[in-house]
Amino acid sequence: MEKVKEIITSKKATRVVLWVAGMLAVVALAVVVVFGGFGRVGDIVRGTNTKHEVVDVVAGDTLSKILSKYGLSGNDINSIAATLRTNAGVGGLRANRDKIEFIRDGEDGPLSKIVIIPSPWRRIELTCDDAGNWNCNPIDIQRDTRLVYRQGEILDGDSFYLAGSRAGIPAGILAEVYDLLAFEMDFERDVRAGQKFSVVFEENYADGRKIDNGSVVVVSFDALRGNVKMYRYRKSDNTIGYYDPNGNGAIKSLKRTPINNARVTSSFSTRRKHPVLGFTRAHKGVDFRAPTGTPIPSAGAGRVVARGYNRGHGNFIKIRHNGTFETLYAHLSKFAKNVKVGTVVKQGQIIGYAGATGLATGPHLHYEVIKDGKHVNPMTVKLPAINNLDAANKKSFLEYRGTLDKAIEGLVKNPKAYIQM
Ligand SMILES: [Zn+2]
Repeated sequence: MEKVKEIITSKKATRVVLWVAGMLAVVALAVVVVFGGFGRVGDIVRGTNTKHEVVDVVAGDTLSKILSKYGLSGNDINSIAATLRTNAGVGGLRANRDKIEFIRDGEDGPLSKIVIIPSPWRRIELTCDDAGNWNCNPIDIQRDTRLVYRQGEILDGDSFYLAGSRAGIPAGILAEVYDLLAFEMDFERDVRAGQKFSVVFEENYADGRKIDNGSVVVVSFDALRGNVKMYRYRKSDNTIGYYDPNGNGAIKSLKRTPINNARVTSSFSTRRKHPVLGFTRAHKGVDFRAPTGTPIPSAGAGRVVARGYNRGHGNFIKIRHNGTFETLYAHLSKFAKNVKVGTVVKQGQIIGYAGATGLATGPHLHYEVIKDGKHVNPMTVKLPAINNLDAANKKSFLEYRGTLDKAIEGLVKNPKAYIQM
């Protein structure tokens, strides 16, 4: 096992002050330079005179099954189950999520503590008193969040995913970036060699050990029509949104591409030769390649106004988003359960599954955007932003952005550095 290396704060580290909006708390943002990597801590950790053993809960396990395997009596098990239920709100164990840690005094010593671990951020410690009653003590683990910076460039023949992976951006963060930028650009058609991008995202640590990644904090992409940049920002009412550098809402009411990273197989046009019918007619939407069964999310929040079948569209769903915009999704193999005419859907909610019903040469999503009753090109139509900032929040945002930008300059100069939150 590798040893956790010492963290060294560079003498040159930039120190800046960040105003956290709403809370008006001053937080020192230190850019910290780290030498070396971190090792993983294995399942069995030995202290000087205690033995720790961690058990993963798998399908078919129950609390009593595991506890009796570790030598606990029926009385102990009942006492543990009772205190977990009453004092920690834990009614049972979840397979593939929960872990149980058994701590003994010495290699073969008596059990001194049992810890239920529902997440890397919570431990429920169980101890037995002299009368033989078990008590529990839930502990929330201190989350140490660091912001890291990764930058990359699209090379010839690259996809954003490949370039992002090469730049060291984890898959989950890349998926989040896709989701954020899907309002602004089309990753299939708008990606070119030479385009640069950068992402600042959270890494969560506990006791110097990386546990997981948090959210995308800043994303910047040199798109065809210019740089697209978004900042994650918490408003004074504690709601979180993404904003452009001027503080305008970056999240649009509709996504231009409802499914991430899908190839455009046919663009919007007023004239095209229909692949099935053979004659020329307008293509009122955009086709995305999507294997049968691909989940189709709603491009925006709204209400289902039509769900049915016709010869051209096959199975289709139409959603009204506001007084101006509607979207339509065609050739679906099936509809999502509980999505019917009148259903209110959230942005990103799965409404159906891709297929090739109706007039289609193969499985794909045909996606239409209808503005004031007229079909428009989803890729170019001007979309309204949601979640705009009021004057007070905008002022705080701009201060926050300035501070963060300065701290990020330190990261650009030293890619191994991070911002300590
Ligand atoms: Zn189409």
